[in-house]
This record gives sequence, C-alpha cells and structure tokens, in this order.
Amino acid sequence: MNTETTSTDPFGELKPVRGLPPGLRRRFPDRVLVMTTDRCFESCAHCTRKFVLGHAPVVDTPEKIEACVEWVRRHGVVRDVLLSGGDVLTLGDADVGRLVSSFAALDQVEVIRICTRAPVAKPERVTRRLARMLAREGRGKVWANVHINTAEEARRALEPAARLVDAGIPVSSQTVLLRGVNDTPRKMLELLRTLSAERIRPYYVFQCDPVAGLAERFGVPLEKAKKIEEYCAERIGGLALPRFVADLPCSRRKIPLDIL
Ligand code: SF4
Repeated sequence: MNTETTSTDPFGELKPVRGLPPGLRRRFPDRVLVMTTDRCFESCAHCTRKFVLGHAPVVDTPEKIEACVEWVRRHGVVRDVLLSGGDVLTLGDADVGRLVSSFAALDQVEVIRICTRAPVAKPERVTRRLARMLAREGRGKVWANVHINTAEEARRALEPAARLVDAGIPVSSQTVLLRGVNDTPRKMLELLRTLSAERIRPYYVFQCDPVAGLAERFGVPLEKAKKIEEYCAERIGGLALPRFVADLPCSRRKIPLDIL
C-alpha cells in the first residue's frame, strides 16, 4: 500500500460534496464530522488540517446547525457525530451546548464526540460547569477525544480530564507518533501509563497523515513504529494499549500497522 503520496488536503475537506450541507463531512457510513470552527487553542506544527483551517466551511450559525441535523435525521444509518474543527471548545458554552443538544435529540445518534486539545492547551477551559453541561445536554451520549502526544501533556490534562470523567463523560486520547517528540519505546510507554493512571483511555496512536511537508518532518518509519507498539504491548495490559494505525485517504477504515 502506498503511504508516501502527500497533499495539502489529503482527505478532500476543501472540496464541496454534493448533497452534504457545508461543514458536514462523511468518510464512513455511520459517522459524520462537523467542522464547528476553524479556530484552535494552538497551531500545531504537525496539524493535519493546517492547509484546510480558515478555508473550509464551518457550521457556525443556528441555521447551519439545523441543516446538518436535518441531514443526519434523513440518514438514519448515522449514529456517531464528531464535533471537530479546529477545536469545538474554542466556542463558548452556549454554542457548544447548542451543538451537542441538537444532535443528542436525535434518537439514532448514540455517540457525540468532542474532539479537543483544551485539556492540554487550555486546561481552565474545561470547567466543572462545562463538564456538567456536556453530560446534561448530551443526554449521556458525549465522549471526549483529547489530542495528547507526551506524558508531560498528559500530566497537564489530569485535572480537566478528571472533571469530565467525574461528570460521566468518558475521555480517550488520540496521539500522533512524531519524530523527535514521542518516537521512542520508553516515551510512548510512559505516555500510555500516565494516561491510563489518569482514567484517560489510550485510543489511537496515528502515523503522521500524508499532508505535504508533515511526513518529511515528523514521519516515523513503519518498522520503527511497529517496534514501539511491540515494546508497549509486551509491558502493559489491553486497557492501556491503544491501536497503532495509519489513516489513509483511500481506506474504508483505520489501518493497523501490522497489516501495512
Ligand atoms: S489542535 Fe488539532 S486541529 Fe488544532 S492545530 Fe493542533 S492538530 Fe490541528
């Protein structure tokens, strides 16, 4: 499988898709991604959407939210809604609450994912009030996916993650394997142990996406990534072991490294 081709928009997020409201993306049948904003708390050098943010349409008005909700309602197979961007928690509580409650009101929607880096980049944003609001307006359907790359970042996320978990919101981490940042077995193991001790479930470790310039700067060779996974798998239980995967534009699923 060719993982080398890079692009500024590998997942086609700038291209309008016929039949989809602006700001709604659908790569997999049961899931949709809502581009809620193009703002983030940080400007990560390894950002997959670095060429997309600021250019892709966002769902930033009640009318646009309603258009997306109506589209999901008409497509009953959709059960999982990702509130992404940018970072949805750069919006105020009222706007986040409107998004969450609008999708949670659909019986078919079982999972609403808050994709955020706030617990690391702006821990004070994740207040007890926000956590309680997400639990209430989300009708128990909200999960938080937090982008965490190092044990030091995980330690920064301890208190905000605890506020979410204590409010009944499961928290998981998504990590990008980055050259020079977390690409040693010991660093990865420390990250995974720190996360699980903080009640953050390690979910995915991604190979760098095929975005122009990123793979060259941050990419970790496949064989090295496999050795890191093996080292971790031999030392921690399944609960703390994420799936090491590549997300390829042509694929209908995340690809485990051992079949690449
Ligand atoms: S937080 Fe995520 S979306 Fe925002 S700049 Fe970083 S990688 Fe990109």
